Amino acid sequence: MGRKWRGTPLTAADIAEGRVATAEWRPEAKYAWSAGESIGRFLEELQEGHLVGRKCDVDDTVFFPPRSFCQEHFVRAGEFVRLKNTGKVETYSVSYLDTDARRLEEPVYVGVISIDGAAEGMGFMHFLGEVEEKDLAIGMRVKAVWKPKKERMGAVTDILYFKPV
Ligand SMILES: [Zn+2]
Repeated sequence: MGRKWRGTPLTAADIAEGRVATAEWRPEAKYAWSAGESIGRFLEELQEGHLVGRKCDVDDTVFFPPRSFCQEHFVRAGEFVRLKNTGKVETYSVSYLDTDARRLEEPVYVGVISIDGAAEGMGFMHFLGEVEEKDLAIGMRVKAVWKPKKERMGAVTDILYFKPV
């Protein structure tokens, strides 16, 4: 047996049939958020066609994508450094699913790429393009292919894919 609360219980019918006062409004809820100093800068640089990392001043490790703190030395990260548009495929996958898990007729190739100049093991996941499935290989050298500048919007999709070099 549920607890009996004081007051007058309302039913959905009381509201639907206008037995109680109601009000409707559409709030002007607008949101904005910051990507943070490191990822914010990373996205701005992508729009300009640059890959940027950030250095730990203790041992010059370059984080890519940039981070604000070094997890090894517990210090604030230092300078941002522009990196080359090239790297190496660490691993890849042939996918017959799109990003919404819908079946694709033709597969997409997705790889984890170590960008030249960044620390080991700091892979960047992206599409691989202008390549045949039979030619995909771990260790393959690749280069970023950018969207035309006016179509870029400060997102990882400003890079269309990485192609073999
Ligand atoms: Zn460090």
